[in-house]
Amino acid sequence: MNVKISLPDGSVREYPVGVKGSEIASSISEGLARVSLAIEVNGEVWDLSRPINSDASIKILTWNDKPGKNTFWHSSAHLFAEALEALYPGVKFGIGPPIENGFYYDVDLGGRAFGDDDLLAVEAKMKELAKKDSAYVRSDVSKADALKYFTEKGDEYKLDLISGLEDGKITFYQQGNFVDLCRGPHIPNTGFIKAVKLLSVAGAYWRGDEKNKMLTRVYGITFPKQKELEEYLHLLEEAKKRDHRKLGKELELFGFSEKVGMGLPLWLPKGTILRERLEQFMRKAQIKAGYDPVVTPHIGGKSLYVTSGHYEKYGKDSFQPIHTPDEGEEFLLKPMNCPHHCEIYKLKPRSYRDLPIRLAEFGTVYRYEQSGELHGLTRVRGFTQDDAHIFCQPEQVKGEFIKVIDLVLHVFNSLGFENYTAQVSLRDPENKQKYIGEDHLWDLAETQIQEAADDRGLKTVAVKGEAAFYGPKLDFMVKDALGRSWQLGTIQVDYQLPQRFELEYVGSDNQKHRPVMIHRAPFGSLERFVAVLIEHCAGNFPLWLAPDQIAVLPISERFNEYAKMVYDKLKEQDIRGLLDDRDEKIGRKIRDAETKKVPYMLIVGEREVAEGRVAVRKHGQGDQGSVLLDEFVSQFRVECAAPN
Ligand SMILES: [Zn+2]
Ligand SMILES: [Zn+2]
Repeated sequence: MNVKISLPDGSVREYPVGVKGSEIASSISEGLARVSLAIEVNGEVWDLSRPINSDASIKILTWNDKPGKNTFWHSSAHLFAEALEALYPGVKFGIGPPIENGFYYDVDLGGRAFGDDDLLAVEAKMKELAKKDSAYVRSDVSKADALKYFTEKGDEYKLDLISGLEDGKITFYQQGNFVDLCRGPHIPNTGFIKAVKLLSVAGAYWRGDEKNKMLTRVYGITFPKQKELEEYLHLLEEAKKRDHRKLGKELELFGFSEKVGMGLPLWLPKGTILRERLEQFMRKAQIKAGYDPVVTPHIGGKSLYVTSGHYEKYGKDSFQPIHTPDEGEEFLLKPMNCPHHCEIYKLKPRSYRDLPIRLAEFGTVYRYEQSGELHGLTRVRGFTQDDAHIFCQPEQVKGEFIKVIDLVLHVFNSLGFENYTAQVSLRDPENKQKYIGEDHLWDLAETQIQEAADDRGLKTVAVKGEAAFYGPKLDFMVKDALGRSWQLGTIQVDYQLPQRFELEYVGSDNQKHRPVMIHRAPFGSLERFVAVLIEHCAGNFPLWLAPDQIAVLPISERFNEYAKMVYDKLKEQDIRGLLDDRDEKIGRKIRDAETKKVPYMLIVGEREVAEGRVAVRKHGQGDQGSVLLDEFVSQFRVECAAPN
């Protein structure tokens, strides 16, 4: 008896019933067999040693596949547990899943402290055990036997997990002397794990519930090659240096005050310049693209959010209503700008000739985030969106998407994000009742979004089932200079709010119709965008954005007067900068300007004063020679203009 196995390239091969993933890999090539970690069978990841008993489509997974990596890292969590147990018998284990980068394991050390030395000791033990090439062996276990095993071992966490499992569906995995409750899958053996690093330790409540015991969460990462670990650690180092919280402080861009409140950023003068430059850039681009700016209040009557549905969805878990001395009068801090914009739309009757209407606002919104979730500028409680809402006819969606895509790409290109992809999030066609809005409108919008993306040559992946219940969308993912992915810029179709707010326009047929609403924010929030930008460019902002574009540095006090004249002349031309006329050595002044990442330094001394020149120095690049001041100013004005 044979089974038909379909490979990713579309070819079909026959194998005897019970063929294993490892055998299929070998039959394709020995090279593949050496690096294969697991196998995807009809979309499910399996051990390479598990027999395949019926026809299936498969994919051999290696380190280059995300599920391959996950299997590798999850298997490394088992190796960590084996090492920990070998060193500290009696430890108890919670869960040990793979994460974005590496894995963690929650463990109960019975009150034992766990410091850096322990991390190193466990790491060494892991490397030693990995070399034994112990196979990860899967076995089916009855619920009774599973309970018995962990009762004898005295591990209440595993018992808690087993109690929620169905008898007949429980499996153990063993490698070396270590047995774990696990549904798998795993890599073939520990020998694949060539490089190990335990990264950090944190506390985590069992099952994430603060009523439960606090366990120790140990984070680690492993690789099939030592070189890859070294590259990863280098990247981590680099990411630490670029951390926007660190640079934000050093470059005096923003800060926080406990009295003002957690997660509520205070923009300092230099950060404000940066932010305002971004706003001006976007305003200009939006006016060109036919947007009308609007301004709406920071609060709105509670009923506005009852109508929009936000109150029902987020009301209890967010900032609570503000009461006034008037009985029953309640306001909410604005969590979104959309309802306000719907009300602007409704202020007068609209005709199809008025559409599209594009209302843009730098709207500050407030959302409650738990204090533990707050993080620098990326997770805050108050932030400003470069928000806009487009109200259009259903058949205008494509044209509007094209315009928004152009705007988003203009932002990326102007700010040096060269590596981006886009995801088209569609309905789940099997589950149409989950979505509001008419069927034919969804079909129309989905086609138009894809066509718009194709029209602009965007690399897209379409993902079914990823649309919001109220409409399909296009999401942009950018890779920063360190290769990390960020989601920036979403364009979202919405059928719900026009319905809830009963928005209408009179069509060419003289009948009333419902407009489609498009939400879009190329930056997303200015706070988060600035955070991503800081980390992307390591604080070396493009010249047109840099808070201080130039530092004027007199060599000694004798030249302060000339330096001041240079500085004033630049200021007159809207060039931003600073004058360092302290009584310090020029070397020190240069170092300080370099630390502040000021793009240009103009050094003035005897010769410059005599000839009306400046000696130009570029950040990180050194001396550029001397030029006549007037020449420099006219060149610089061109160089520092914002992109058009
Ligand atoms: Zn496992
Ligand atoms: Zn919106």
